[in-house]
Amino acid sequence: MSLPISYDDVVAAHARLHGVAHKTPVLTSATANAMTGAELFFKAESFQRMGAFKFRGAYNALSQFTPEQRKAGVITFSSGNHAQAIALSARLLGMRAVIVMPKDAPVVKVEATRGYGGEVVFFDRYTEDREAIGRKLAEEQGLTLIPPYDHPHVMAGQGTAAKELIEEVGPLDVLLAPLGGGGLLSGCATAARALNPACKVFGVEPEAGNDGQQSFRTGQIVHIDTPKTLADGAQTQHLGNHTFAVIRELVDDIVTVTDTELVNAMQFFASRMKAVVEPTGCLAAAAALNGKVDVRGKRVGVILSGGNVDLQLFAKLVLGAEEAR
Ligand SMILES: *Cc1c(COP(=O)(O)O)cnc(C)c1O
Repeated sequence: MSLPISYDDVVAAHARLHGVAHKTPVLTSATANAMTGAELFFKAESFQRMGAFKFRGAYNALSQFTPEQRKAGVITFSSGNHAQAIALSARLLGMRAVIVMPKDAPVVKVEATRGYGGEVVFFDRYTEDREAIGRKLAEEQGLTLIPPYDHPHVMAGQGTAAKELIEEVGPLDVLLAPLGGGGLLSGCATAARALNPACKVFGVEPEAGNDGQQSFRTGQIVHIDTPKTLADGAQTQHLGNHTFAVIRELVDDIVTVTDTELVNAMQFFASRMKAVVEPTGCLAAAAALNGKVDVRGKRVGVILSGGNVDLQLFAKLVLGAEEAR
């Protein structure tokens, strides 16, 4: 069976991103190694442009538009990191970006998207269907829709994070990546399997939203209600058809962590590693730090997927974790 993306697609994406995306740093911590008995390599996508790996997939997708598509522009519906990634990529490529967001989206997210030149169109999430609005605008204005995860160009772009990590640190025994809709995990699994076939690949989800784990174990895409979790980048209700096809084939398992484990990991990064990592960005690290995957004695890659967190919330969570100690 042929999968929606191959390693060649990841290599081509990496060439398109060269000189545009940052080659993000790999962080290490003797304390984290001592706590886990493993050798951990944290790929800090919190230092990527716009603060998350999503720039990789968005730019890879937009840079493949035809001249006609480029002239009309791009549309997406998202209030999170994908919106900012699309807005920034569109600005760099000189095209229009229309972002459909709920009326009650956090002001900081609306402002960040506008700051990158995105045109925000609001909808009422209780009475209107965002996909219908997106489709209508796309049709009327000739815009191309780029979804946040279920698109081969997006998936291939996200896989460049794992490619870069393995090329920098050498073969790994285990690779851990956060899982929302599966763009990041499917791309990273594709890269890891090609570069490092013995490497085991795990996705990490919030416990409250384990639709990916259920899907992986039952062999069918499971839909859930929007989960209540601090990991707002992983509040997806289901995997995509393309992402699931890759995940079921190339991933070893999917594990979960609790919100408390996420907050403790955030606190660890802030206090020990002087790094700001958003709750969703801590998923993979929390799995390693809490023994959700057997990492003892192993070389382990951990994707820190992003750092975009409201500073008030960050301070509250980190200080709360400190007090609970
Ligand atoms: C979007 C996002 C994820 C989840 O990525 P998927 O490709 O949807 O699985 C994880 N972490 C951060 C910071 C994100 O923005």
